[in-house]
Amino acid sequence: MSTTGKQKPDEPETAVETARRQLERAAAHLDIDRGIIDRLKHPDQVHRVSVPLKRDDGNTDIFTGYRAQHDSVRGPFKGGMRYHPGVTEEECIGLSMWMTWKCAVMDIPFGGAKGGIVVNPKELSTEEKERLTRRFAEELRDFIGPMRDIPAPDMGTDAQTMAWFMDAYSMQEGETQPGVVTGKPPVIGGSYGREESPGRSVAIIAREACDYYDYPLEKATVAIQGFGSVGANAALALHEWGANVVAVSDVNGAIYDPDGLDIDDIPTHEEEPEAVTTYDAPEHLPNDELLELDVDVLVPAAIGNVITEANARNVDADIVVEGANGPTTTTGDEILENRGITVIPDILANAGGVTVSYFEWLQDINRRQWSLERVNEELETEMLKAWNDVRAEVEARGVTWRDAAYIVGLSRIAEAHQARGLWP
Ligand code: NAD
Repeated sequence: MSTTGKQKPDEPETAVETARRQLERAAAHLDIDRGIIDRLKHPDQVHRVSVPLKRDDGNTDIFTGYRAQHDSVRGPFKGGMRYHPGVTEEECIGLSMWMTWKCAVMDIPFGGAKGGIVVNPKELSTEEKERLTRRFAEELRDFIGPMRDIPAPDMGTDAQTMAWFMDAYSMQEGETQPGVVTGKPPVIGGSYGREESPGRSVAIIAREACDYYDYPLEKATVAIQGFGSVGANAALALHEWGANVVAVSDVNGAIYDPDGLDIDDIPTHEEEPEAVTTYDAPEHLPNDELLELDVDVLVPAAIGNVITEANARNVDADIVVEGANGPTTTTGDEILENRGITVIPDILANAGGVTVSYFEWLQDINRRQWSLERVNEELETEMLKAWNDVRAEVEARGVTWRDAAYIVGLSRIAEAHQARGLWP
C-alpha cells in the first residue's frame, strides 16, 4: 500500500490510506523519530467480536463487531460506534487514526478509536437493537471503560444506543459508570449541547475564517450542503450571528435565496427528515449546483467525497469549511489549493463534537452537570485555541490549513511518545 505516493486521479482512497498519507505529509515538516511515525501507522489493537442476537422470531443470528484502538499515548481511546452494513475492519482502523489526530489538534487528552457492527440497523426492531447493543457492550467489556476506551454515537447509533451500552456495562461492573460512553441522554450523564456541538464548531470556525480573510460576517454569503445534525446547527448559528446563509440542501436537493434564507423556518432533518425542498424558496437547485454557487463560504456537511476531480474546478466559493468528515477527495483538494481556495479541514472544523464529548466525560467522572451556557462558553474557548494553534502553523510554515492541523496534532502525539518512551 502506498503511504506517500499520489493516488491515481480520484481513485477512491481508503480511510487508512488517507490517515497514513496525512501522517507522512505532516511528518515531512517535523523532526520526529522514524520509529514513532511507523508506530502511528498501525493501530495498537483491533478487537473483532461475534455478537449473537436472538431475533424477535426466536432465531439466532451472528453479527461481526469491531473496535479499532489506534493510539492512547495522550489518554483513553475515544471514538464512535457505527451500525452499518458497510462497516469493515480496515475502515474502523482508518477512522480510529483520524480520531487520534482530531483529539490531538483539539489538545484533548484522548487517543483515537472507532468501531461498529456490520448490520443494517433499519432491519432491526427496537428490541433487537437493544439486545444487540447490550451483547456488544459485554463482548467489548474487557477492552473499554472510562479510563480505557470511551465509545460515542456514530452512523446508525444514537443517544438511546449509548444509554443501553452504558447500562449493560454498568450492570456487569456492579456500579453506575456514565463515563464509559459519551453522547448519552442528559438525564443519565449526557451533556447539554452535545448534539449541536459539531455544527456549532463548524460555525465558530467559519466565523473565524471570515474574520481572518476580511469578510465581514454580516455581509458574508454561505452555502451549506446537508441540513442534518452538523449542517442545520452550523446554519442556525451562522444565521443567528448575522451571516447570509443563501443555500442549504438535503439528499433531495437544494434551496437558494440570494438575499439569504430564513433558516429558523426551514425544517431540520431531526424535525422532519429530508424536507428542505418542501420549503418555499425563490430557487430550487440540484445538490451539485449548490457546491458551485458563487458564495464566500461553502460548508459541505452531508457526506464524504463530494468535492472531487470532477467538480473542484467549478467550486466558486472563496473558503471551504469542511463540516462532514472527508468531503474533499485528495485530487479535489489539490485542485482547490492550486486555485487559491482556502480549505479549513474537518479535523479542526467539526471537532466540537469530540470536544463536548470530552466535557461530557469530565462531567461524568466529577458527577457534576454543566449548564448549556458553560458548555458553549468552554467550546468557544477550545475552538479558538485550536484555531489559533493551527493558524500559527499556517503563518509560520506557509502550509495549507489541512497540513497545519495535522502538523499541530502530530507534533503533540510525537512529543508524548518521545517523553513516555517505548516500553519495555
Ligand atoms: P445527519 O444524518 O444528521 O444529516 C445528513 C444530512 O445530509 C441530511 O440533511 C441528509 O438529507 C443530507 N444528505 C445525505 N446524503 C446526501 C447527499 N448524497 N447529498 C446531499 N445531502 C445529503 O448527519 P450528520 O450527523 O449531520 O453528519 C453529516 C456529516 O458530518 C457526516 O460526514 C458525519 O460523519 C460528519 N460528522 C458528524 C458528527 C456528529 O456528531 N453528528 C460529528 C463530526 C462529523
